[in-house]
Amino acid sequence: MISDTIAAISTAVGEGGIAVIRVSGPEAVGEVSRLFRGAAPLTEVPTHTVHYGFIIDPETKEKMEEVLVTLMLAPKSFTTEDVVEISAHGGVVSVRRIMELLLKQRIRLAEPGEFTKRAFLNGRIDLSQAEGVIDLIRSKSDKAFSVAFKQVEGDLSRRIQELRQTLIETLAHIEVNIDYPEHDVESMTSLFIQEKCGSVLAEIERLLHTSNQGKILREGITTAIVGRPNVGKSSLLNALSGQNRAIVTDIPGTTRDVIEEFITINNIPLKLLDTAGIRETLDVVEKIGVERSRTALNEADLILLVLNNGDELNEEEQQLMEQISGRQSIVILNKMDLPQKVETEKVRQFYKEELIVPMTVKEGEGVDRLEEAISSLFFAGKLESADLTYVSNVRHIALLHQTKRSLIDAIEAAEMFVPIDMIQIDVRLAWEQLGEIVGDTAQDSLIDQIFSQFCLGK
Ligand code: GDP
Ligand code: ZN
Repeated sequence: MISDTIAAISTAVGEGGIAVIRVSGPEAVGEVSRLFRGAAPLTEVPTHTVHYGFIIDPETKEKMEEVLVTLMLAPKSFTTEDVVEISAHGGVVSVRRIMELLLKQRIRLAEPGEFTKRAFLNGRIDLSQAEGVIDLIRSKSDKAFSVAFKQVEGDLSRRIQELRQTLIETLAHIEVNIDYPEHDVESMTSLFIQEKCGSVLAEIERLLHTSNQGKILREGITTAIVGRPNVGKSSLLNALSGQNRAIVTDIPGTTRDVIEEFITINNIPLKLLDTAGIRETLDVVEKIGVERSRTALNEADLILLVLNNGDELNEEEQQLMEQISGRQSIVILNKMDLPQKVETEKVRQFYKEELIVPMTVKEGEGVDRLEEAISSLFFAGKLESADLTYVSNVRHIALLHQTKRSLIDAIEAAEMFVPIDMIQIDVRLAWEQLGEIVGDTAQDSLIDQIFSQFCLGK
């Protein structure tokens, strides 16, 4: 089926301690051994062993690099093919020269994601596991990483396959009934369909229930920090991100752009949008920023309204509180080190006590309280336990919704004693929709599109 041998640099390009080139395919051992000089020829050493030696230019016999070569013979490798990994000194020239030599052999350059694609095509992992690999690489928080890791381990796949098994048994049962259509069998079949599809439906609803949190854990809570100039929005962003990304100044209105930043408050990933202060202004440059901050405000899952404890509320702030208090929002009373001037009773008209967070951002005080407030809004107080399977991928979520629709159609039809062969169509559809999650019934174009998101060498 797959007959050629591929190679790519699997570590990040640039200077580094080590760089790894991965070679996979039937010619991997033979072709690399032509370029390698070590204690023993690679063709004669056992699998899963590491060998010290040199890469030699086969034409000039010149030593080119000092390397460690790892051998993983089929089928116990990432791709299930023969895999050879060459660890060289990190550096652009070194790996480029080795790659050039490899590509002069019967080896071609791998496409992005092609190693993982081979693992999928050779049946070692399914599509949802492969997608977990992308998420793993891209994860921006510990929690997102563990969600992806479970997916790579096949946690979601196993659940989906169990549900598909139930559906295929149901289909087999229907098949028998179509062949022997006696009346009493038919009504029993109808009850059987309702029961089986009902149990699959319940499990799908449970999985979908995790998807909101799963998506948040994966992508972060899109958060807008709003407030009038100089209340400490940029300082808050910097305090949370631990970097000086936004410019902090004493001049009102210096944050001109919306800045995006990923941070985690303990376990909660936030995608922060710092905004240029919600206020009307005649300054043209800042106006662009203000436009954008309105957009940010509209798009946000969470709004952090920063107020200055040492100042009275102004008209705009009161309007803003009224406007956003119905959304997922938290008031931060910043600058608690200053004597209180803010009218907290007005804030309490709009916000419950636990959503008003006193902070002294300049001293880094109040971050714990902020985390509690966010948890209470998004995770009903705490994150779900670690052993829960989260559905976090939008493609999976969409397919689960479609499956749910098909199952409801099947159940409703069964309740109304619609002819069994009509119901069969919905059950089969549900089975196929679940199959698309794991890749059993996925189109080639979809598979290509998913793997094209990978980086080179993975
Ligand atoms: P922004 O315009 O809302 O982004 O406000 P900045 O983050 O640029 O901060 C404006 C000023 O407030 C800066 O001089 C900060 O050092 C100061 N500031 C920030 N947090 C605190 C705080 O907790 N207490 C006091 N006293 N000043 C603060
Ligand atoms: Zn600012």
